[in-house]
Amino acid sequence: MDSIPSKFMDTTLDAPGADDDASGTAVSVECARLLSMLAASGHAGLRATILFAAVSGEEQGLLGSKHLLDWTKEQGYTVGGMLDDDIVGADRAPGGPHRVRLFSGNGDIEDCDSPSRELARAVEDINGQDAIRLIFRIDRYGRGGDHYPFYKAGLPAVRFTEPLEDYTHQHQTPRTENGIEYGDLEKYLDFGFMGNVALDNAEALRQLAMAPQPPTNAKLRGAVTPDAKVSWNADEDSERAGFEILWRETTEPRWKVYDFTTTARETVLKGVSTDNHFFAVRAVGKNGARSIAVPTEIAK
Ligand SMILES: [Zn+2]
Repeated sequence: MDSIPSKFMDTTLDAPGADDDASGTAVSVECARLLSMLAASGHAGLRATILFAAVSGEEQGLLGSKHLLDWTKEQGYTVGGMLDDDIVGADRAPGGPHRVRLFSGNGDIEDCDSPSRELARAVEDINGQDAIRLIFRIDRYGRGGDHYPFYKAGLPAVRFTEPLEDYTHQHQTPRTENGIEYGDLEKYLDFGFMGNVALDNAEALRQLAMAPQPPTNAKLRGAVTPDAKVSWNADEDSERAGFEILWRETTEPRWKVYDFTTTARETVLKGVSTDNHFFAVRAVGKNGARSIAVPTEIAK
């Protein structure tokens, strides 16, 4: 998957592709193994369908992921989140940080709260800041990946990538030149690190698949008044405990819980200006699992 030699369309050259992207494929297979064992136990409590896919043709223009996006539409799936694991096999950053990077695009609204960003925050919330290094950009500088078509479609889609890439091990025909060994070879992989990335993915998938559906139509009213008013919609759900109203300073990267309420109705945030914070809502299950956050839009 994704593996290419130095001359990237030359099919006669060797391109082992251990890190890019046998590593991500292995993480996906390991997640499928862990979660299918859990599901078979009958106690998983998963409420959403989890699909595992390995897509080809990334380096030829994201062909596989574009097809996957079309296919999910044809099947009538609602895509609640898409985790892309690409180059997650090595941890060679001298001195660290040894956290897997999680890339998410800003979207094109003022508060940088794209669905992808909310998914990234949820993954960090679930696994902790010691495990996940959030990177608030769509991808590494000047580069792309298979989460991109989903991100552009307005769906929550993020990319996991190892802490620091080694370019002598990517997109290289295996060879030794001036004493430097080139090639994307298995011997450079760190299986302990990969195992942790698989656990981070599996736990995020498990908890998000246990959670109620995210609220819809989250709105902010109360401009030019002393109180902010947050409203949203949600379908009936007997497994849902309620909703958390979230807020954060406009300069803060992460949400905080402002309040909890059991019903979907307009909630008045007494004495809170509409102007000085961003707001969002998320659903909380009776099992404790939380949906991704849905940021409020200005009510028209
Ligand atoms: Zn790749």
